[in-house]
Amino acid sequence: MSPLLSSPFSARQFAARTAINLDEIFWHSVDFLIPPRCVACGVTGHTFCASCAAAVQLCQAPLCAKCGLPLQLPASADCAFCSRHDLKVDRLLAAGFHRGPLQLAIHALKYRRNRALAAQLGSLMAAAWPADAPANALLVPVPLARQRRSARGFNQAEVLARQLGWRLGLHVDGAVLQRTRETRTQVGLGAAARGENVAGAFSASARRLRGRWPVLIDDVCTTGATLSECAIALRAAGAPLVWAFTLARAARS
Ligand SMILES: [Zn+2]
Ligand SMILES: [Zn+2]
Repeated sequence: MSPLLSSPFSARQFAARTAINLDEIFWHSVDFLIPPRCVACGVTGHTFCASCAAAVQLCQAPLCAKCGLPLQLPASADCAFCSRHDLKVDRLLAAGFHRGPLQLAIHALKYRRNRALAAQLGSLMAAAWPADAPANALLVPVPLARQRRSARGFNQAEVLARQLGWRLGLHVDGAVLQRTRETRTQVGLGAAARGENVAGAFSASARRLRGRWPVLIDDVCTTGATLSECAIALRAAGAPLVWAFTLARAARS
């Protein structure tokens, strides 16, 4: 029996599921009237075609147990990323690398408001969800800066978290984390500047967390600076462990 069928549904989960279904019905209707083009290769008929989906470079073992990047020397315990970055999450994982078709798909989701992609990208994340993840994980999307949220009309991290939560039967709470101040975009900043830009920029609600195991959800992880700041806030609110799971991981950071 699938986790969806075996887990009891709350009214909130039912509402989230209904919203996702209505969203998908809307986009399928749009696809019927205006046949889509693949956001990566341009072929007509699919928003993200099967050959582009198959070309996504997945993060495959052997991976660093902390940061989730492939280990260059499987025999060595040293990880080049972890030696350079003070990652504050206990475990970081990603579905694939931020390059090629996946990079183009994320770009389309974020900047061209192509929400039809959300279902396929959510599936990609669900397929990469770690088998040893806690059954009572609470999916916590990284909040978007208010200005970018209102300009875009949605938070792509929350869209992905809801797709993932629906597929895995997990709760999603987009109100656990709040931004305490506005930050500029991390795009184009170096590692040190990224850390300074988001330092102390988040707070978490202990009431909403209620001792559950939070798994941060975001579209892309570059240096892990934003995820680390979110983890600090979640730990201050009582989370004993914080994991993070992103759709994509920067190939070089
Ligand atoms: Zn394609
Ligand atoms: Zn590592």
